[in-house]
Amino acid sequence: MTQGQGSSIRPIKVTNTLSGKKELLETRFPGKLSMYSCGPTVYGLIHIGNLRAGLVSDMLFRYFRKVGYDVTYVRNYTDVDDKIIKRANEEKIPADEVARKYIQEVEMDYAVSGMLSPTYKTTVTDHMPEIVALIERIISNGKAYVVDGEVFFSIADFAGYGKLSRKPIEDLIAGMRVDVREKKRNPLDFSLWKPAKPGEPSWDSPWGKGRPGWHIECSAMASKWLGDQIDVHHGGEDLVFPHHENEIAQSEAASGHAPFVRYWLHHAFINMAKEKMSKSLGNIITAREFLTKYSGELARFMFLSVHYRSPIEFGDEALENALVSLHRLYEAKARAAELLRQGRARADLRAEGVWGSFLASCEKARAEIDDCYANDFNTAGALGAVFSLIREFNRVLQEPQAAATPAAALGAAELVRVMEEELGGVLGVGRLEASKALADIARVRAEKLAAAGGGARIGEEEILGLIQARAEARKAKDFSKSDQIRKDLESRGVLIKDGPSGTTWSYK
Ligand SMILES: [Zn+2]
Repeated sequence: MTQGQGSSIRPIKVTNTLSGKKELLETRFPGKLSMYSCGPTVYGLIHIGNLRAGLVSDMLFRYFRKVGYDVTYVRNYTDVDDKIIKRANEEKIPADEVARKYIQEVEMDYAVSGMLSPTYKTTVTDHMPEIVALIERIISNGKAYVVDGEVFFSIADFAGYGKLSRKPIEDLIAGMRVDVREKKRNPLDFSLWKPAKPGEPSWDSPWGKGRPGWHIECSAMASKWLGDQIDVHHGGEDLVFPHHENEIAQSEAASGHAPFVRYWLHHAFINMAKEKMSKSLGNIITAREFLTKYSGELARFMFLSVHYRSPIEFGDEALENALVSLHRLYEAKARAAELLRQGRARADLRAEGVWGSFLASCEKARAEIDDCYANDFNTAGALGAVFSLIREFNRVLQEPQAAATPAAALGAAELVRVMEEELGGVLGVGRLEASKALADIARVRAEKLAAAGGGARIGEEEILGLIQARAEARKAKDFSKSDQIRKDLESRGVLIKDGPSGTTWSYK
């Protein structure tokens, strides 16, 4: 069968870690795409690096669907792990309770970030029979061995180990901590099954009670839901070695079919002040903290406006840039909404002159945006095309009488469509109602300002002036304004209280 890909699906290029090159995506079955993404280990709240992982995966899923693939997308939760057991012992609750609790928390963060639900969300504990069966296949194919109830993968028996890392075996060994007391034949051999330790959760197996090693879970879940050979596998760049290298070894050793994955896509980290964000460095921001303080929309914009393979420098500057851009986007959307409200568009209307050329620009922008996504998910380029369209829209509106012409509503409607379909459909950004989004941006700004102000508190004179303005708004029954003033004061650290003798205030 030739891979014409069912002619209707546009060609997409992706950077494949396996080859180190940008390649044309050709799925195993035309029109269908299988995708697996490594999800978090659930022993605590996820951090914004995990959130970026989820969002990149969500963006890939959305785009593959948008161009017409029938996508089957699997994302897992690692719910058996040393860290979970440690947390369970600390909290004195069973390990499965820890996992269940944090799966719920992660689901909440994912929902607030507007992620689509994968086709299958999987956990290790739900796949024990599949994991055991997969290990048995690897052993019977002569590529694993058992020592004292522990099963190891034998990398010496698997030609091609190291192909994803694209490094010679010696280099990979050099990067390992080698323990001479180990039972392994080769330092790179890794556990497929570990014998049970007292007090730890365990499952029955032909090798005695125990639990699976980390890597085997993804091979088992991928083959159960997607088959022995899958199209796209996504994860963080830290997973290339050993996790994904080992997934390839396990899956190909078990099935005898290569490649296990056609295209490996890896995203980069988030850096805090030029340092990698990590628990050991203590510079973690949880997704919950980010989403509570800011918003899902801002998370999507910040973490998807940068190319997935580039690191994100997280800090005030990046945050401010994202706020400025989102503000510009929604201000244009608000103007468009206003033109639509005045809406003098009629079905028989044709846009001519400035609006005619604006509509032509919209069409050009759509094609440009799609080309950007199809070129290894150049999301920054796609956003650039939207912002140049917004610049043109603002310029047209400055022309004498342009806003008053009936065709203005046609231009406005098309701009909104480009935002919602091309941007919203893939990045999930730009779909909110403009007034709501702008109010949210204003709130974040006010809180940031208040936090930055620190010691320089708002003065008494200004407070009294605002209390007076609020009283007048209430008298005029403009309660949304009076409410806003109270909220603004609160965000700047001032609490007000209405009593029988008038309004009093205090610093928080
Ligand atoms: Zn994995």
